[in-house]
Amino acid sequence: MARYTGSVCKLCRREGEKLFLKGERCYSDKCSVSRRNYVPGQHGKGRKKTSEYGLQLRMKQKARRYYGILEGQFHHYFEMAERKQGVTGENLLRILESRLDNVVYRLGWASSRAEARQLVVHGHFMVNGKKVDIPSYLLRAGEVVAVSAKSKESTKVKAVLEANSGRPVPAWLDLNREALEAKVVNLPAREEIDTPVEEQLIVEFYSK
Ligand code: SF4
Repeated sequence: MARYTGSVCKLCRREGEKLFLKGERCYSDKCSVSRRNYVPGQHGKGRKKTSEYGLQLRMKQKARRYYGILEGQFHHYFEMAERKQGVTGENLLRILESRLDNVVYRLGWASSRAEARQLVVHGHFMVNGKKVDIPSYLLRAGEVVAVSAKSKESTKVKAVLEANSGRPVPAWLDLNREALEAKVVNLPAREEIDTPVEEQLIVEFYSK
């Protein structure tokens, strides 16, 4: 399974804002965006105005990095979004939100999507009672995600759950905190997705 292995803080600095890719550190004064808020690289401080194409490209890259997805898969999601009924940009965000690693993060069961992805790969979660260790698994309305019985006893998992238990959970996920399981009530409407992207720019980028 391919994934980005470079410095994630550089990705935030490239987009000029916090993408919250590192969990706890993102909320501390160690955050690189707080300390060095300019584009990385030799000419980072002197970059000029961006063209329309540049804006569209940056928006696509920002969304991709926010969800931790490589280009090939992101483009595949865009094509899926185009084939669905409704607004393509909103469909795209809904697909990204329905990934298992994102849902685990949204439920406060991981401090970042990267950590969520790792926990999923290590087999800590069940979907409808069966172990699913594929971070890109797309959840549907009505499906139930749960921490596996064995993992509920794991010291590491318990610590992660404890550290993130205070995060608000979106209304489209019905979380039972005691049972450590959650039902996908419905896939989110656009107003329920707080991802700071203008999806129309991504649509324009791929429509050229
Ligand atoms: Fe981004 Fe978090 Fe690194 Fe700050 S600490 S630059 S928000 S990944």
